[in-house]
Amino acid sequence: MFEAQTTKSGSVLVSGASIAGPALAYWLDRYGFDVTVVERAGAIRGGGYPIDVRGTAIDVVERMGVLSQLRSAHIDTRKLRFVDADGNAVATVTPESLSGGVTNRDIELPRGELSSVLYDLTRDREVRYRFNDCIDALHDDGAGVDVRFRSGMQQRFDIVIAADGMHSNTRALALGPEAPFNRYLGFCFNLFSLPNDLGLSHEAMIYAEPGRLAGVYAVGDSPTLLAFLNFATDEPPFHSNTDVDRQRRRTAKIFSHGGWEIPRLVAAMQRADDIFFDTVSQIHMPRWSSGRVALVGDAAHAPSFLSGQGSSLALVGAYVLAGELAAHADPVDAFASYERIARPFMESNQALASREGGTLLMPRTQQELDARNAALAAMQTLGNAPSYSEHSRQVHNSLRLPDYSRWLREEQRK
Ligand SMILES: Cc1cc2nc3c(=O)[nH]c(=O)nc-3n(C[C@H](O)[C@H](O)[C@H](O)COP(=O)(O)OP(=O)(O)OC[C@H]3O[C@@H](n4cnc5c(N)ncnc54)[C@H](O)[C@@H]3O)c2cc1C
Repeated sequence: MFEAQTTKSGSVLVSGASIAGPALAYWLDRYGFDVTVVERAGAIRGGGYPIDVRGTAIDVVERMGVLSQLRSAHIDTRKLRFVDADGNAVATVTPESLSGGVTNRDIELPRGELSSVLYDLTRDREVRYRFNDCIDALHDDGAGVDVRFRSGMQQRFDIVIAADGMHSNTRALALGPEAPFNRYLGFCFNLFSLPNDLGLSHEAMIYAEPGRLAGVYAVGDSPTLLAFLNFATDEPPFHSNTDVDRQRRRTAKIFSHGGWEIPRLVAAMQRADDIFFDTVSQIHMPRWSSGRVALVGDAAHAPSFLSGQGSSLALVGAYVLAGELAAHADPVDAFASYERIARPFMESNQALASREGGTLLMPRTQQELDARNAALAAMQTLGNAPSYSEHSRQVHNSLRLPDYSRWLREEQRK
């Protein structure tokens, strides 16, 4: 039997507690929904690679009241140093000149820190978290969704939202398997950490050969560096993303030769116990909902890290989805409205990755590498960003947030 769920505006199950999940939970709770978040991991995962909050997403975190808290976690990466095989600088530029971001407005912080801030916000409220569990089956009968969890528990909710990332299992249950929605961008990445023996601080060093990219990222003054060994391949190894040893061997073989610090990075990767391997892909869905189940964040429209916009899109999507659910009695109408408002913004941000991100960050051929070096040199000499970064800036800010404040619970209106 399914356990009945008490409702305020309605009961919502959110799958995933990274960025989109807790942000959505926060807003839904403020609009009077009864919110449960289920997360596969045992706890909020701290640390991680740096992500960005910029453009329209700055307005979202400001409305959530955490802007200054996030600002104090800003890691302040000051330069990106592109080097040649001998470690000599090809060009040194600011992160903003590449991303189109805005110095002193954008925030860069480890993904896990943003998650923790959002989680803490919701913990102070009435949001329930269920860690170490996930959805095994869904049945949407038009009036509600019966959910069976891996733990064996069964419960009925008015609405279910997939915020469980690019490889969302909730999306697979409601809208089908990932393959037709995954747009592979031709690269794989391999992230891991190593001791900061290079003495770097607030900077990244990046070395490219055609089809191969190696680098280290000094997150603030951290004693560890985040390293990456990324490579181009036409054959995406989707089938073995979770087989870490296989990916370790494959990456070591691809980087068995090369300049700069590649041998040292390969040795560190062989020892690392925190390898994160995946394809560089986007998610493109023909629709973001099916009945009473909807998608938010990477599950709906992962833009890939080449855009640098995934976290900002997750925050903006969560804000709009919660607001539209508050504004409509019927979730199906709310989902349609959410998609109408947010889709153009999400798609134009996704397009940034294919427009300049690919060739600039991951040149595949010597010709692309030469073009990248020329573009970087121009950025450095001119001291200002080329026109595509102005274009990126416009896209980052291209959604004007709707005002949903009249739907806030009476006692929470300011
Ligand atoms: C290497 C890398 C670098 C990046 N760099 C940047 C950057 O510079 N700037 C930027 O803005 N973005 C960046 N991103 C993208 C950014 O991390 C994502 O876009 C963002 O985290 C999306 O948030 P999300 O909440 O939608 O999904 P995710 O962060 O992917 O979170 C999904 C959550 O769901 C949980 N989960 C998964 N499956 C289940 C399940 N079946 N049941 C329950 N829970 C589940 C996961 O444990 C996780 O907590 C980068 C991503 C990667 C991989």
